[in-house]
Amino acid sequence: MSTLIYGATVVAGDTIMEPGAVLLRGGRIEALLDRWEQPGEAFPGEAIDARGCVVMPGLINGHTHGVTPGALFPSAAHSLSRDRWMGHLDRHLLAGTTTVLSLCGLGAMADVREADRHHAVHVRGATTHLPLALQAAQASDGHGLTRAARELSVERMLEDGAVAIGELGGGQTLGGGGQDLIYIPEAIAKRTGIRVSSSQARRLKEAVLGRFIQTGALDERRLSDLAGETGLAGALPLGELAALIADTVLPSMEPALGAIRDGVRTALKLGVPAIVHSASATANVMRELMDETPSKGAQLIAAHANHPSHTPQEAYELAMRGKDKGWAAEACVFDLLHRRHTVQTREHWDRLLSEPDLVSVLATDYGKDGEHDELISAVQDVFNQGHRSLAGAVAMATTEVARLIPGIAPDCSKLRAGGAADIVVASAADFRDVKFVFVDGQCVVRNGELTEEAHR
Ligand SMILES: [Zn+2]
Repeated sequence: MSTLIYGATVVAGDTIMEPGAVLLRGGRIEALLDRWEQPGEAFPGEAIDARGCVVMPGLINGHTHGVTPGALFPSAAHSLSRDRWMGHLDRHLLAGTTTVLSLCGLGAMADVREADRHHAVHVRGATTHLPLALQAAQASDGHGLTRAARELSVERMLEDGAVAIGELGGGQTLGGGGQDLIYIPEAIAKRTGIRVSSSQARRLKEAVLGRFIQTGALDERRLSDLAGETGLAGALPLGELAALIADTVLPSMEPALGAIRDGVRTALKLGVPAIVHSASATANVMRELMDETPSKGAQLIAAHANHPSHTPQEAYELAMRGKDKGWAAEACVFDLLHRRHTVQTREHWDRLLSEPDLVSVLATDYGKDGEHDELISAVQDVFNQGHRSLAGAVAMATTEVARLIPGIAPDCSKLRAGGAADIVVASAADFRDVKFVFVDGQCVVRNGELTEEAHR
């Protein structure tokens, strides 16, 4: 059975075929064509008229969470239900992502293989099975840790198929967004019965620990104002409120920072990629590691270099310093383009992406409850804003990811004759309008809806 996708703008590596066609057969790309015959009745397969569309390789997302069973996030929170992690994979696939790297890091490869087996998206795994990362997880949460996962090591995980070390650090263990969303509101509700929002939690945290999450940064006046605003003033004395927040955030900080150091050194020793959580709370450690261990052999990646806990200037300077030392930078779309639940500004995004060759790859991270913006909308934005050419923007979510993380998608990051047929057909006007997705030549999204082949 053959499939001919014709009439589209085809992104084949650095070459744009406009219009072009792609012929699929036996799960592979048989040919890329700049001339083809209008298929008639005799064509032995399906012909897709893709005029008005862009055809690109299935996207590769090197930074996801919540796409497998097993411990969630660097805090090793309780695993998501099967419906939820399958649902997250559905969302990735419907938006043209055909390969994801789970950066939850403290699960087992059996969890990754289970997701990979049951969903058309290729699911790859990473590891942070380091003693200090486990300690940080247990200090902040740890409820999703299994005994088997606790006994694993980075080396064992790599032997078992993990393709990177990461995510080293995270908002949950480093006083970031994960604390604001989950742990601080939970601790306050448990003590007082009052539920604060994530933005209130963030402001309370910054009043107690400052933006760089340190002791000695308490701003009593600000804390008192916020306690009034949130109704906490009558519920517990200010000193206890400050202690409650500090005791929620701080215990995982030191081990999590130590795990970043250990993880990067291990990556350099073993020659595997490492993905490090970039945020204001990790800026000092990252600077120290960039200076101490210029990337040689291993690919060191600063995750979400555009993290909004940095100021735009701090984000820029840290990414530039990384670039000098051979680190790569990833820009995360979070939900800054469309949904804007967690990130309301695109200033950091544009600042970093407008600098030529500073950011190598794009990713999504998780957003609020997995409601990140689509990776494909990030590709389109980078192109529309003029930060990159179309081929350059697509490369940031395909070939560049595969180059930095060699095990993630060795065969399917580029459209080429003889290559694997992971292919996206999306409206040229709005890439989020994904019409068709093929994985290994099988149609898994048709007219914007999952087919039966999407789940296995
Ligand atoms: Zn992160």
